[in-house]
Amino acid sequence: MSAPAFQSHDHAACIDSAVAAAAARCAQQGLQFTEVRRRVLELLLAEHRAMGAYDILDKLRAEGRGAQPPVAYRALDFLVKHGFAHRIERLNAFTACVQPGQDHSPAFLICRACSSVAEAEAGPGRALGQAAAAQGFTIEQTVVEAEGLCPNCADTAERDDA
Ligand SMILES: [Zn+2]
Ligand SMILES: [Zn+2]
Ligand SMILES: [Zn+2]
Repeated sequence: MSAPAFQSHDHAACIDSAVAAAAARCAQQGLQFTEVRRRVLELLLAEHRAMGAYDILDKLRAEGRGAQPPVAYRALDFLVKHGFAHRIERLNAFTACVQPGQDHSPAFLICRACSSVAEAEAGPGRALGQAAAAQGFTIEQTVVEAEGLCPNCADTAERDDA
């Protein structure tokens, strides 16, 4: 499964499998998959879209949880730290990982019109690694965020032009 975000797919199954994978990984590693952590992950999974911490907080509050900002931040930190979600620096927002439990540094394809986000496994990888090695630099993390138009928004843009 790679980058289903822009294609129509069985989204209910998509949410179920990501939550199940997160729950399984937490159980395996002795991590607490608390109710609020699970709920925040579900909220991020609800749409393949980047959400800010305050969007999450608003939704938690709308559900009557009376959550304070640190609650949302801590849950997001937990999800990012353990690979269940990613932080999108460009948008100062978060998105659920579509391959939770796998250590990876995907490239993010971010739609500037609808904020939907897809992961792509084609990072700069080897070429950047070699260039860095040539300078004696050890890369620990690369963040690649590409901004553009998703197929849905590109279609709309074309129609508007016509
Ligand atoms: Zn989905
Ligand atoms: Zn991911
Ligand atoms: Zn879009």
